[in-house]
Amino acid sequence: MATDGDGPSWGSRMTPGAREALVRDRRHLHAHPELAFHEFETAAYIAERLHQWSSVRVRTEVGGTGVVADVGEGSGPVVLLRADMDALPIDEPAGAEFVSKIPGRMHACGHDGHVAMLLGAAAQLDAWQRAGALGGRVRLVFQPAEESPDDEGRTGAYHLIQAGILEEVAMAFALHMNPEAPPGTVDLWTGYAMASCDVFEGTVMGRGGHAGYPDRALDPVWLLGPVLTVLHSIVSRRVSPLDSAVITVGRVAGGTAPNVTPTEVTLDGTLRTYSPVLRQQLAEELERAFQVARALGGDYRLHIRRGEPPLRNDGRANQVLADALAALSPHVRVRRQPFGMGAEDFAYVAEQVPAALAFVGCGVEGQATTLHSPAFALDERVLPLGAAWLAETARTALARLRTGVVTDEADGEEGRPVW
Ligand SMILES: [Zn+2]
Ligand SMILES: [Zn+2]
Repeated sequence: MATDGDGPSWGSRMTPGAREALVRDRRHLHAHPELAFHEFETAAYIAERLHQWSSVRVRTEVGGTGVVADVGEGSGPVVLLRADMDALPIDEPAGAEFVSKIPGRMHACGHDGHVAMLLGAAAQLDAWQRAGALGGRVRLVFQPAEESPDDEGRTGAYHLIQAGILEEVAMAFALHMNPEAPPGTVDLWTGYAMASCDVFEGTVMGRGGHAGYPDRALDPVWLLGPVLTVLHSIVSRRVSPLDSAVITVGRVAGGTAPNVTPTEVTLDGTLRTYSPVLRQQLAEELERAFQVARALGGDYRLHIRRGEPPLRNDGRANQVLADALAALSPHVRVRRQPFGMGAEDFAYVAEQVPAALAFVGCGVEGQATTLHSPAFALDERVLPLGAAWLAETARTALARLRTGVVTDEADGEEGRPVW
C-alpha cells in the first residue's frame, strides 16, 4: 500500500483539495438520494459542479434526468466515461453524519461514489485540456435509472442511447464499487462479466372451491408443486454444467383463507445467464415447466420481460483499463475474475461500442456487507483512485485510438467464466 502524507493513495497523484472535493461531493449525494428517473436534484448538483470547469460543455435533461458533458476538441473519436446516479428504496439506519435525509431512500449501490469519482475525473480532464494535454474528446455521462426500469422495462442506459450519447463514441468505460473487496483491490475481466436479467411473471390457474372437497376443485397450489420442482431443476438438468445460469422465484402469492381453494397462484422471478444463446433457452425451458400445470388439467399464463443483456467486456477496452491502472498505481491488486450474477445496464452500451466495466474494492474494514444492503458502506479513500483511474483511462484510450495501436487482451475465456 502506498502512502503519501494523508493516507493510502494506491498511487493516485491527487491534491488534498481534489480529495476533499471528492468526499464532499460523495457525502452531499449520499445525504440526498433519489430513485430511478427522479434524479432531479442530483442532476442539478452535477451540472452546477461541471459548470465550474471552463472547458467542459454541459447538457442537461438528456434522455430524462441525464447529464452529459463533453471535454476536449477535435474531430477524432470520442471516449465515453459513465457514472450512474440513482439510489435504492432502502431505509438507511442512523449512523454517519451524512446519513440519508430522505426516509426510504439510500445510496446502497455506491452510485454516489460513482458520481463523485466522475466529477473528480472531470476536474482532471479539464486541467489536461486547458494544458493542451488531453488529445481528443471525452464524454462524461451521468446516467439516471440504472437500478430499475420504466413501465416498458427500459432503464437509463437505454434511454440515453436513444438520446444519442453514443454518437462518435469509439470506446466506453465505467467503474462500479465493490464493498466485498478491500480498498486497493480491483476486479477486471475480458469477455462476459455480468449476467443478463430477465423478469418473469407467471400464474398457475386451477378451479377454486371448498377446501374440504379438493376433488371438486382443481387446486392451483397442488399444480404449483410440480411446476416449481421442474423449474428448480432446469439449471441442473437442462443447462451445461460449464455454463452459468440462475432461475430464482422471488415471489409466490395466492389464496385468501385456510378453508378456500384459490382459483390461481402467481409466481414471479428472475432468469440470469452470461450467454445470449442460453438466455433464449432458459425462456423456453421455463415455458415447459409451466406446461406441467396444463398436463394436470390446469392452465397457466407466463410473461417474460427482457431486461439487461449480459455485460461483455471488450478485450481492447479492458486492456486500456488495465494499462491505465498499472501506469497510475502499481500497488493495486488486480483480480482477474467475472463479477458474478448481478446485472448492469452498462451492458446496453457494451452491445453497441467496445466497452469495459471494472469493480473497485471499497469495503470498510471490519464491516461485512454487500451492494443493496442497508449496511452498505464505502471506504472513501478509494475515491481518488477511481477518479484518477477514469481520467487516465480516457487519456490512454484517446492516445491509442489516435495512433490506431489498440492491443487486444487474450479473449480465450469469453462467455465461459473460469472461477
Ligand atoms: Zn445496484
Ligand atoms: Zn450499481
